[in-house]
Amino acid sequence: MLTSTSKLLQVAQRNTYAVGAFNIYNLEGIKAVINAAEAENGPAMLQVHPSSLGYGGSPLIALCLAAASSAAVPVAVQLDHCSDADEIRSALDAGIQSVLADGSHSPIAENLAFTTEMTTLAHSQNAGVEAEVGRISGTEDGLAVAEKEAKMTDPDQARDFVKQAQVDALAVTIGNVHGKYQGEPKLDFDRLSSIRKAVDIPLVLHGASGLPAQMIQQSIQLGVCKFNVNTELRQAYLDFWRTDFPSRTKADVLDCMEATTEAMQAVVAEKLRLFGSTGKASLYEASAETVPTT
Ligand SMILES: [Zn+2]
Repeated sequence: MLTSTSKLLQVAQRNTYAVGAFNIYNLEGIKAVINAAEAENGPAMLQVHPSSLGYGGSPLIALCLAAASSAAVPVAVQLDHCSDADEIRSALDAGIQSVLADGSHSPIAENLAFTTEMTTLAHSQNAGVEAEVGRISGTEDGLAVAEKEAKMTDPDQARDFVKQAQVDALAVTIGNVHGKYQGEPKLDFDRLSSIRKAVDIPLVLHGASGLPAQMIQQSIQLGVCKFNVNTELRQAYLDFWRTDFPSRTKADVLDCMEATTEAMQAVVAEKLRLFGSTGKASLYEASAETVPTT
């Protein structure tokens, strides 16, 4: 069932588990997420990055919304990292329920102005907003310690930002990176703990691909209730084409679609178990009366 992102995350926050937000590019990705979520009887999120939206356009959003509506478990649909007001507007007009209004590349005052404007817009359409304070980079390579810390989320800044912008969720930077981690990931859990004390809305950790189970658990205990997963899903999809497909000379189109769906589904199922959202679908029926829908 199509469910608002806010509701998905608020219930997760109250029950100390996290929702997986999986970046999807095509029907196979969407099916992989929903099949896994139904098999695990837990909630999940379909996340559309502006780059895949640039290819799929509003039909891709419509596909996500239709798939979420017909799912047997709660599923939300979100626009990932978007710094373009027009793109956010069209995604909201196409019916998307939440957006990551990403002004984190700009100085904090500009980030705040952009995010506040997008939040007012989204809320007027009954949709939600995730903000990013601090800057999640693609890699930490070549950065000195001071540079890394400068990009991390400052707890006091986060508190003021959330209060002023009235956002619904906050993406934090505590040493997490997009893409592959170079060496052992290092997360600043003291910082996460301070952010949790300063901010009471759901916290989000991007770059969950490749984080060890212990770090995932610790993050959840310290208030993270949404993890973004992209890299490992793309890897599973590409591995099929690079490794399996060349030897499957008789494989037809549907065989390949099924094989790539299954490969990504296995990744999603593993993450749902890791995030503790397996078996949590029933919590949403119980909370239907008490949780606001935006
Ligand atoms: Zn991200």
